[in-house]
Amino acid sequence: MGTKKIAIIGAGTAGLATAIRLQSQGYDVTVFEKNPKVGGRMYQLVDQGFHFDVGPTIVMLPEVYKELFTYSGANPDDYVSFQLLDPLYQLHYHDGTTLTLSSNLTTLMKTLETAFPEDAEGYLKFLGDIYARYRIANAGFIDHGFLKPSDILNFKNIRDTLRLRTLNSAYRSIAKFVKNEKLRQALAFQTLYIGVSPFEGPSIYTIISMIELLYGIWYLKGGMYAMAQAMERRFLELGGTLRLATPVKEVLIEKGIAQGVRLEGETFQADVVVCNADFPGAVSSLIPTQYRGKYTPKKFKKMQYSSSAFIVYLGLNKKYPTTVHQIRYAKDFKKNIDDLFAPRMPEDPSFYLYSPTQIDPSLAPEGKEILYMLVPVPNREDTTMTWDEGMTNAFLNQMMECIKAIPGFEDIEDHIDVRHVYTPKTWEEQFHLMHGATFGLKPILTQSNFFRPQANALPVKNLYFAGTSVHPGAGIPIVLKSAKIVSDLILKVIPRT
Ligand SMILES: Cc1cc2nc3c(=O)[nH]c(=O)nc-3n(C[C@H](O)[C@H](O)[C@H](O)COP(=O)(O)OP(=O)(O)OC[C@H]3O[C@@H](n4cnc5c(N)ncnc54)[C@H](O)[C@@H]3O)c2cc1C
Repeated sequence: MGTKKIAIIGAGTAGLATAIRLQSQGYDVTVFEKNPKVGGRMYQLVDQGFHFDVGPTIVMLPEVYKELFTYSGANPDDYVSFQLLDPLYQLHYHDGTTLTLSSNLTTLMKTLETAFPEDAEGYLKFLGDIYARYRIANAGFIDHGFLKPSDILNFKNIRDTLRLRTLNSAYRSIAKFVKNEKLRQALAFQTLYIGVSPFEGPSIYTIISMIELLYGIWYLKGGMYAMAQAMERRFLELGGTLRLATPVKEVLIEKGIAQGVRLEGETFQADVVVCNADFPGAVSSLIPTQYRGKYTPKKFKKMQYSSSAFIVYLGLNKKYPTTVHQIRYAKDFKKNIDDLFAPRMPEDPSFYLYSPTQIDPSLAPEGKEILYMLVPVPNREDTTMTWDEGMTNAFLNQMMECIKAIPGFEDIEDHIDVRHVYTPKTWEEQFHLMHGATFGLKPILTQSNFFRPQANALPVKNLYFAGTSVHPGAGIPIVLKSAKIVSDLILKVIPRT
């Protein structure tokens, strides 16, 4: 028997991480990626010397990033370098007030006691409450899959589920501790990072704002794409095979056992297939109908999808001193969020700004600046969200007006060297995300933990799934955990030779 061959569909974060883990354990791994570059949603656009991160920008839990390199037998410091950001964010409210959130507790307390004296204690109590629940979630839910019935129905899980108190919404659980609406918004906005409304998403997802405050927001030197490049480099060093611009057309299955993948004009035989392409789109287009188990078209129609993102990437020939991460809140935050999922296009949207060149001039030509503006928008499940040229240009103009309204940015349109735009349609087409839902299946209670598709979601032997729409969910550290779950499972059930 020779070395077992593994075919991985997609060179996104989870695909590359699974590839590194299995290649480093002696399997013979080939990754097939439809796009000409690795990274998936962690993509990069390069234009006239500007290097734009396309999707993720906020680094949390850098030790999870590093663990991948350590596991593969390398020193992470040779691949990735992180810097703690301070401040974490600058938050701007509709009435012109600003809140700067420091990663230094002493500075943060001063800010809270000055701006929100009534709420400083509640803020700390909120952090303590969600920290305790995070410890339970991390050990009980995020770190492992639910691969067989006994992984779900056991006393510990039932007890932990009760202790997590997931039934409350994120916003309600914040409001219990904090009275000021601005401070509530500062803690609630982050559920949008996984594409769910804070008014609907389970309270456990306030762990995102807790992690930011207690464990920090980090900057990855070279921008987020440095992680994709580092993973590509490590995989190739380990002897893996990467086939870019090579879309997979179908997973080959015979008698319920995965046999490999069909490419354009070619088939590739493999002992195991791991699909990193986002679950709903991948199952619907790559798996023969009789092998889709419960994931029928009807089931996918019934499932709920996260919001999407409209992003403007600006390469500017002028410096605009600001912080790396900023958020601007809509006047009516609740209406803005409700519109997202109604779905209705936002009239006065909240948005997020990212300017990595504030601390990393290597991403732009000398003296120039990058500004990335992300506006949460509805996904394309509603077919009126055409994102044709007319709709895109109209919304782009609306958003340029919003940027120009920020004090100091009034002249921005006179200083644009390059401009790119991603709409929900771009996400759908470039990365095969169903309905252009940038964070995959919406992480509501009935689509989280044991209810989310698992690594072994289909009744097909030797076929596995990794990535955002499978457990544990969206976000770089979280999909890195998904890669760990799937590769540990393969190691356990399929000997390498
Ligand atoms: C706008 C945006 C902002 C975000 N911000 C953050 C953030 O700040 N911090 C954070 O931690 N996370 C963030 N996220 C989430 C994070 O980026 C994702 O969860 C993660 O990158 C997804 O990785 P993945 O492995 O699940 O899949 P993907 O990145 O989707 O990779 C799947 C790959 O499969 C490929 N593929 C699809 N179909 C085929 C096929 N038939 N054949 C071959 N290849 C195929 C795709 O091209 C893609 O490269 C953000 C996401 C977006 C979109």
